[in-house]
Amino acid sequence: MAGSGNYKFNPTITVPEGYFDDITEYTGSNYYYDKYNTLLTEEYIRTMNVNDSIKAELYYLSKAVEYTKKEAAIAQKFYIYNGITEPSFRSGQSVTNCGEIWSAREAILNGSKFSELDFHSIFSNSGTTLDMCENCKHTFELFKISEGFKEIKVRK
Ligand SMILES: [Zn+2]
Repeated sequence: MAGSGNYKFNPTITVPEGYFDDITEYTGSNYYYDKYNTLLTEEYIRTMNVNDSIKAELYYLSKAVEYTKKEAAIAQKFYIYNGITEPSFRSGQSVTNCGEIWSAREAILNGSKFSELDFHSIFSNSGTTLDMCENCKHTFELFKISEGFKEIKVRK
C-alpha cells in the first residue's frame, strides 16, 4: 500500500538509499515528480538491484503507464502544470500521481504479479469507497485487457 502524490517527498514510495542525494544540484522545480517518474522507466528498472522476475513485473507497470498516456494523447486529454504537459485523462493530475501506481510498485517489489493486482480505494477517515479514476481504469483494467491478462466481461 502506498499513498498518492509524487510532487513532494512521499515516504510510502520505496527508493534506494541515497536516491535523493542530488537534490541540491537540481535546477528545475519538479524535482520529486521527475525523480519518482524515473523509477517507472524501463531504463531505470533495468539498473535495479532486484531479481529478473520482479523486473519483468515492473516492466508491465511501466508499459501500462505508457499505454494510458498514449490513449490519453489519442483522446487529446492533457495534464498541464508548472511547465509539465503530459497526456492524462485528468486535467488536474498526471497518470503517475495516483496512489494505485505506487501501491502497485510496492506490491510488485514485495513479489506480486502485475496481472493479479486489483485495487479498492477507501477514504481512511470516512471509510467510503472510491472508484478508480479514468487514468487508473486504463492502467489497471484496459491495459490488462489489451495484453490478454483479463477477459472482457460481457453482460448477458
Ligand atoms: Zn487514479
